[in-house]
Amino acid sequence: MNSTEAKINTWIEVHRSDENLLHALVKRMPKGGDLHHHFDGSLLTENLMNSAVEQGLWISTEDYTVSKTAKQGKEWEYLPDLVQDEIWENFQKDWLRAWSIEDFDGEETASDEHFFGIFPKFFDAIPGYTEAGLLETKARCLSENICYLETHFENFPHRAENDFLEELAKPWISAAIWDVNLNKEFEAAFKKLHTKSNQKFAEATCRRMEEVHQRLRLDDETFTLRYLMYVLRLLPSHLVFEQMYFAFLACEKSELVVGINLVGAENHPITQSEKTLHFKMISFFRKKFRTASVALHAGELTKEKTENFMYPHTISQSVQAGAKRIGHGVAIFWEWDEEDTLNRMREKEIPLELNFGSNEFILGIKPEEHPWRRYQKAGVPLVFGSDDLGILRSDRNREVTRFFSRYGGNYSEFKAMALNGILYSFLKDQDHKNRMMNRLKEDFDTFEKTFEDECQP
Ligand SMILES: [Zn+2]
Repeated sequence: MNSTEAKINTWIEVHRSDENLLHALVKRMPKGGDLHHHFDGSLLTENLMNSAVEQGLWISTEDYTVSKTAKQGKEWEYLPDLVQDEIWENFQKDWLRAWSIEDFDGEETASDEHFFGIFPKFFDAIPGYTEAGLLETKARCLSENICYLETHFENFPHRAENDFLEELAKPWISAAIWDVNLNKEFEAAFKKLHTKSNQKFAEATCRRMEEVHQRLRLDDETFTLRYLMYVLRLLPSHLVFEQMYFAFLACEKSELVVGINLVGAENHPITQSEKTLHFKMISFFRKKFRTASVALHAGELTKEKTENFMYPHTISQSVQAGAKRIGHGVAIFWEWDEEDTLNRMREKEIPLELNFGSNEFILGIKPEEHPWRRYQKAGVPLVFGSDDLGILRSDRNREVTRFFSRYGGNYSEFKAMALNGILYSFLKDQDHKNRMMNRLKEDFDTFEKTFEDECQP
């Protein structure tokens, strides 16, 4: 720690209860890499709503799901018509509440149910907003001094020619529960799946992403964006296998796709009953596609939720399955092999992606209950994540301010996290990584110099 860092730490200690003052400092602070970010959940809700109107989507007046067509079984309104209606102003307010945590009071729905229930509602609005959304994402990173972002971007759709997997996958779940080795079965499925047609399909998806990425000039001297393909773990197991295959394959096919992640509420019965199978699949595909990096959501649970499960070992299992980073990790205290897992994370340098604001809302975790100090004491590297800023109606300046004001964090600790955001990124080009790291260190030097000039008496 240099002497200016020590001064900033002291300054933060003195002003810890003054959020406005802290926020003013945080705004100017470089923030390095954000390594836990969901593209769709981070878009500003108002922008997504406006786009849904412009795209001419229909909206369900019961639950605010949008759709390209008015499907049977619900009451639908055509958004471009609804804009002209006198109810529009109030309708918009309710819509915003349905698609975000705006005004959420928890009286009718639990916070995690409300949160995870939002994604399917705006699902149909995403494809038509992807390019504008990428520009929005970059602009936001620049304004919040983020120089590198890895975003959980999209998943692969099912292809009819892979229908054969359904029959093959039937015995897998029960076999996985009894810890049967499924490598032979996976190998047989993989052989049938790894066709020229599927490879071409993955390549086409990568080329499309690359074309958009370059045309929008998302990478430049000050900013780099990379993608993690995600797999929806709530799907039937044959579809999880198919999505995982494509996600791993995409990492081989494109420089821009740097890894994979599994998404879907961790306390969902399907996630719990099939997680052992999913971990076996990950271990299998990691051997097939060695360039792909895996980050996993694990331990995004409360004590109460952990106690409902027979086998609360998700963080440990994720580390054993080969995860290079762990997202959330809140439930570490309640896992049976906490000590071993933490040791392993330290030895293998598997960082924890911290998402404080998200944990507070979704899990109802209080700052003093959060285990980040436990990881820090165990020597596990920490990195910064923002999760779903759009739905959570937050921004990174507020998230870092929160770290100082409510979590007792200091500047040196945040600076280490920001630098770790480059060090532990999945970026494939090592030279590019080194250049970003050097530039970020210079940015911190400049910031510290301005602090000396402006904030010292
Ligand atoms: Zn997440």
